[in-house]
Amino acid sequence: MSLVIAMDGPSGSGKSSASKGVARALGLRYLDTGAMYRAMTWWMVQNDVPVDDPEAVAARAADPVLEVGTDPSAPTITVDGTDVSEPIRTREVTNAVSAVSAVPAVRARLVVLQREIIGTGGIVVEGRDIGTVVVPDAPVKVYLTASEQVRAQRRAKDLAADPAASVTVTLDEQARRDRLDSTRTTSPLTRAADATEIDSTELGLAEVIEAVVRLAKE
Ligand code: C5P
Repeated sequence: MSLVIAMDGPSGSGKSSASKGVARALGLRYLDTGAMYRAMTWWMVQNDVPVDDPEAVAARAADPVLEVGTDPSAPTITVDGTDVSEPIRTREVTNAVSAVSAVPAVRARLVVLQREIIGTGGIVVEGRDIGTVVVPDAPVKVYLTASEQVRAQRRAKDLAADPAASVTVTLDEQARRDRLDSTRTTSPLTRAADATEIDSTELGLAEVIEAVVRLAKE
């Protein structure tokens, strides 16, 4: 397998910016698996599937057609041909995504798709279960963390257009999402035993990218 860099960690840890930066620095592709769970969730909401009903979600898990582009400078995601890059970032989707991603049929389908995209490698893959489940033999595994407060500040900045997304609200919603993601039965968020932990609380983006690039070159 050529190079696969698995980037896992909780929400707001800076995974997306760091993963894209690492992919650009090393000339690799980039896959945002969170966007795939978000796209699945967006489709469920659009199609009036009750997201808190795991059986209803499982029954429709095979239906949406997802296509993902892996250019780190212009990642794309479509569902049934519709560009959903923006709508998958709304608070409505963000607050529903943990319930959808806990459904085993959803995970089973998306892991197959992710492995197809990863193929023989040459890619930075970000998510929650990349080093533990999707590519357990990835040669480089990073677990990116940051303090809860710093993660909520970063998220709130991402959501600046939404007046209801204050740091306090984001902190509560983020804590809830991390709790759900870490305690679900199938593929919970957890650090792979052989992952290198990078705490980005005090680090700038360039320093995180540099640390991962160094690991990849070891
Ligand atoms: O990374 P992002 O915050 O966009 O991920 C959205 C959600 O997708 C996470 O909160 C989690 O519920 C789910 N997810 C997952 N497994 C992954 C990536 C994301 O369960 N590999």
